[in-house]
Amino acid sequence: ALPTVAFLGLGHMGGPMAANLVKAGYSVAGFDPVPAAQEQATKDGLTVVASAAEAVRDADVVITMLPNGKLVLDLYDEILPAAKPNTLFVDSSTIDVADAREAAERAHKAGHRAIDAPVSGGVAGAAAGTLAFMVGGSEDDFATAQPLLDVMGRKVVHCGASGVGQAAKICNNMILGVSMIAISEAFVLGEKLGLTNQALFDVASNASGQCWALTSNCPVPGPVPTTPANNDYQPGFAAALMDKDLGLAANALRANGVEAELGLRAAELYHRFNTGGGGGLDFSAIITDIRARSTA
Ligand code: NAD
Repeated sequence: ALPTVAFLGLGHMGGPMAANLVKAGYSVAGFDPVPAAQEQATKDGLTVVASAAEAVRDADVVITMLPNGKLVLDLYDEILPAAKPNTLFVDSSTIDVADAREAAERAHKAGHRAIDAPVSGGVAGAAAGTLAFMVGGSEDDFATAQPLLDVMGRKVVHCGASGVGQAAKICNNMILGVSMIAISEAFVLGEKLGLTNQALFDVASNASGQCWALTSNCPVPGPVPTTPANNDYQPGFAAALMDKDLGLAANALRANGVEAELGLRAAELYHRFNTGGGGGLDFSAIITDIRARSTA
């Protein structure tokens, strides 16, 4: 028989992820404090209950998809005592590596199993069941979770021990944030020098400047017609989420004494862009900020 699932946090990501588990035949008890999320989850076939503790009572696997690490730790304190012994806790939220390790430790101390399994792929990937999962935890716990992760995602990678899934997520997104800024600076410099965006794209996309930020999420309209730049920078991957992820990367850089000037600077630039009103735009819209700050 399929394991019984509890899903806590039925927002933009968790809602469609849980719906895909129901479609695959899993019995899913859900909880979210927001009434609109409860209504949608009921329509999607979850059994929506009145509290997180009630949701986990009969669960073999508990999946959380929450905004931050403090909420995850507070919720774990509430639900770990309510779950059956040896329940597998899967946290798919994007949180601090240190919080992820603490969450797993608290679960282990309470007699449970735990992995961190953050995702990339956004709301569209959550709806389509094509997320990428990056997992930290033991081989056994990974193996137990894998069939469920395969339902919600297309690519599932076991990265290492507890917290290492979160580490993979923030390292990847640090590369992405830094490379998007680098690509944007190059386009703005090219514009000043009389180099068209298309000509720079034609050269760099076939040369050593090639990267995902250029060829799949090009920050200027034209060269790649499907990118958010061609649609007034509607996300896509919102700058507010890049700000969050780079903030987590910056915490980890400082906590581990890593000399990463570009990663820390990228965190500052995205934080400024987000708090300055750009947070709802795709993260490639950082080029508009760089252009606006560039004097003639
Ligand atoms: P969201 O705010 O839409 O959803 C979070 C949900 O958690 C909300 O519905 C909220 O009511 C609920 N919640 C809060 N406290 C709770 C509790 N104690 N018990 C149960 N539910 C609770 O956020 P989201 O966009 O779904 O993102 C969730 C996580 O996924 C975040 O950590 C985010 O960084 C990460 N993530 C998001 C994206 C994206 O594109 N949105 C992509 C990758 C990763």
